[in-house]
This record gives sequence, structure tokens and C-alpha cells, in this order.
Amino acid sequence: MLLFKSLLKELISTPSISCTNKKLDLSNKPVIDLLATAFEEMGFHCDISPVNGEEGKFNLIATLGTGPGGLVLAGHTDTVPYDLNRWQHDPFKLTEQDNRFYGLGTCDMKGFFALVLEAVKPFIGKPLKQPIIVLATADEETTMSGARALAEAGKPKGRYALVGEPTGMRPVHMHKGIMLERLQITGKSGHSSNPALGLNAMEGMHEAMGELLKLRGELQQRYQNPGFSVPVPTINLGCIHGGDNPNRICGQCMLEYDVRMMPGMEAEAVRQEMRQRIAPLIESRGMQFDLYPVSESVEAFHSDINGELVQTCARLTGYDPESVAFATEAPFINQLCGETVVLGPGDIDQAHQPDEYLSLDRIDPMISLLRELMKRFCLE
Ligand SMILES: [Zn+2]
Repeated sequence: MLLFKSLLKELISTPSISCTNKKLDLSNKPVIDLLATAFEEMGFHCDISPVNGEEGKFNLIATLGTGPGGLVLAGHTDTVPYDLNRWQHDPFKLTEQDNRFYGLGTCDMKGFFALVLEAVKPFIGKPLKQPIIVLATADEETTMSGARALAEAGKPKGRYALVGEPTGMRPVHMHKGIMLERLQITGKSGHSSNPALGLNAMEGMHEAMGELLKLRGELQQRYQNPGFSVPVPTINLGCIHGGDNPNRICGQCMLEYDVRMMPGMEAEAVRQEMRQRIAPLIESRGMQFDLYPVSESVEAFHSDINGELVQTCARLTGYDPESVAFATEAPFINQLCGETVVLGPGDIDQAHQPDEYLSLDRIDPMISLLRELMKRFCLE
């Protein structure tokens, strides 16, 4: 157990917060270096690559063995920011108490890398038929730029991939995708006493919103999957800003909404359909509109429920493959590997929370599971 604990301690005491607020955003290089050193000592070949356009952000590919195929064990190196006033423990000090390891990232998801390092020990010096590949990414919590860069570069290629996000040891084979969108309508302001003096953007928005809700109903007819607790795609109208005064024609109106996509939907296609539906309504009023993503979309993730990896994980854990409500890097990693499962030792309830922890009773089962997978997919 010593290897696991000493690496976890170092990882937790090395901050790697990623945040859209640049003041809080940190480089993940120190964590990447720690992991590279630890896996190099175990005989892995380490490849550290900068993420294009993201200063101070790096990905690590650590490989044991050679050849095509192999098992990719993937995770992200960054954590969310923390609210110090609400922590009872030091977020940057690994604290063992109440049969738990407390610390920022213990559950989501630095703990996973420490478990992988421990799990790999018996395989050192063994003749591997397929490589064991540890993948550590940057900025999962914000833009997923690390995983996007790897998917674009087409590496690492693997036959199977496990993403160790907190699923409470349950195998997850699908999740929805997310789009965060902004609709901007530009009309013309004027004195409210005469509607002919302007073009009311708020009235245009009213029509556009009606159309979006109509489209939502149609999408919910088109895409249904009982494997999700909310078995249809959703659109949430989240915030709206427009106009300035009761006696002025509203010249500008902006709406932000999210779309939770089902497997089979693609962000750009959904956006195009929305544009096509909104365009005639706005243009017939002589107004203009712009519809664009607020941040880069994450596509839905789906891996065959009957696939060998998914089924092996189901057998080893005793849980049927299921879906989750949160998004992960799995859709990007699934572009590189034949089959992907999301399965990790933490619980999502503890992720992004004060006093984040990993239960000690998850450690041995996760190590055993990883060893079984390595044995089956890399050794035999
Ligand atoms: Zn995570």
C-alpha cells in the first residue's frame, strides 16, 4: 500500500486547479512531472506534450510494453477550485481519518492515478502482449482541451480504455453530451409610443424561444433511451437579458440555454437545425440574430453495452452497465480506442465538494479490478 499512499500524498499537495477564471487557473505541469517520475521508475516510457494554445497545460502518455492495441487507463490531472471556508481539512494535505482519505482531488480524480501505480506493480518485468498505457490529461474541469488535443492528434491508440472518473465502482457505458449556447437578437431601439420607430428584439426572442421549445418536443420524440434517468434530450432556457427601459423599444436581447444531447445527436447538427428554425422568424421581422456556443460542446458518449470491456467490468464489479448524468472525457478517448468504459473508485457525490474524500474500502477492490483488466487485456 505504500506506493499508493506516497504518490497520493504528493499529488494532493501539488495544486493543479483549472478554472475559467484566469486568476485561479494553475499549470498542471507539476502534477504531470510527479506522475511521469513515478511511472518512469516503474519502467514506463513517458511522453509529455504541451496542449496547443493553453499555456502551462500538458498531457502525459506513459506506456509499459509495446505493440498495437493495449489498455488505456485515463484520467485528468486538474481539480476544481475549492472554498476554504467550507473545508474542515486542509485541501492540499492528505488526511487519513474515519476510514477516508481527505484532500482536493482524492475522489476526482488524482486518487485514480495512485491506484493505477499500485496496481501495475506485479506486471513490471512481465512479458506484455499488449501495452498498458496511462493517460493523464489537462483541463478536464474547464474546456477538456487536453483530451480534445489528444483526440485531434490521434494518440494514444488503444484497444480498450477505462476512464477512472468517480462512478462508485460502477461501469458506465454512456452519458449525454452538453451544449451551452447563446442566442443574440439585434433589433432597433426607439420610442415606445410608436412601434414603427424600432424593431423589438424581445418580441423576436419570444418567438425564437417558442420555436426552441417546439423543437425540444420534437427532439424528445426523435431520441429516447430508457437507459437514462431522464430518457430524452433536454433544453433548459437558463438566462435572458434584453432591453433597458419600459418606454423604449428593446433593441438587443440575449438568451443562454443548454442542450443535453442523447447518443446519436451531434452538437453542430443540432445547432444548424436551431439556426434554420429561428432564421425565418427573425428575418421576417427585419432583425438579425447570431447563435453560437458559449463554450466548446462535449458530445454524448456511448460504448457498446455488450462490448468485452464493458461486460468484463460488469462481471468483476457485480453491477450492470449504466449511464450517468455528468459528462466526461470519454467521448474523446473513445475516438482513440475501440471500446471505453467510465469506472472509478470515488463517488460523484464527493466530487467538487468541501472535504472531498476517497473511502479506504474502495482501494483494494479498485486495485484488484485494475489488475484483472491488465491481466486479461495485456498479459493473456
Ligand atoms: Zn473528474
